[in-house]
Amino acid sequence: MSDARDELRTLTAQFRTRLGWSARWGAVGVPSGPSPRTIADVQALEEGQHAEEPRADEVLVADGESENAEIGGQGACVGQGPLDVPVGAQGLALVREELGDCQRCDLCQTRKNIVFGVGNPQASLVFVGEAPGGDEDVQGEPFVGAAGQLLTKMIEAMGFSRDTVYICNVIKCRPPGNRNPEPDEVAACEPFLKKQLAALRPRVIVALGKFAAHCLLRTETPITRLRGTWGTYEGIATMPTFHPAYLLRTPEGKRLVWQDLKSVLAALKQMGVEPPNPARA
Ligand code: SF4
Repeated sequence: MSDARDELRTLTAQFRTRLGWSARWGAVGVPSGPSPRTIADVQALEEGQHAEEPRADEVLVADGESENAEIGGQGACVGQGPLDVPVGAQGLALVREELGDCQRCDLCQTRKNIVFGVGNPQASLVFVGEAPGGDEDVQGEPFVGAAGQLLTKMIEAMGFSRDTVYICNVIKCRPPGNRNPEPDEVAACEPFLKKQLAALRPRVIVALGKFAAHCLLRTETPITRLRGTWGTYEGIATMPTFHPAYLLRTPEGKRLVWQDLKSVLAALKQMGVEPPNPARA
């Protein structure tokens, strides 16, 4: 009998901890502000742009008065994120320090540089891609090759710059020949992406391509169906869209990606986050 009571006490404590954590992040079903808005509200503004696709109606986005806004917006580096990672530049520096001269998977044997990430440690908007390519491997910076230049144009068309957002990949070292990362490589590297995002605590994440979208959203849905549909990563509104490398091969996809990015801009506006420059129409 006392075992059952102990178990119940433990379960209740775990549930309370999780609830508090979810509220802190403005996660599903736990309003963290007085008037929560949903991604569905943002999508409704676009008047059925993706009416045939499933909508993340249950996804709550904390409003500008919430703790999340203070952390994810213009704000100060305050508090301690989940995974015990300090928020902002200090947290990113600690994650990078922990990564060190990483030898945790075989990709360390062929890489030239670890490609950690670049941008504003307090960015409201974070772009997550798959893995570095050849140019990125040489320069140690994500998205600097042809696909990266296209991503830069997309960011600038939104009214941001590379300095005002943050850009990183799921995998920090280049897979030889740009092959897809192996599951053990993902398993070894993904914890550092999680810690990176815990330090950044952005308002919105854009998942670039199938790999990043599947990794962040824990789904196998094809990117052609997934893109343009809001999901959440750890309570953070996440928009999957096509990878810029795909757009170089399939330019007709640019129109759809721009739709997705306009949806991101609308969501950020709802959260009180405006780009520094006007977005292009
Ligand atoms: S891919 Fe990630 S886990 Fe593997 S060696 Fe590079 S930094 Fe370490």
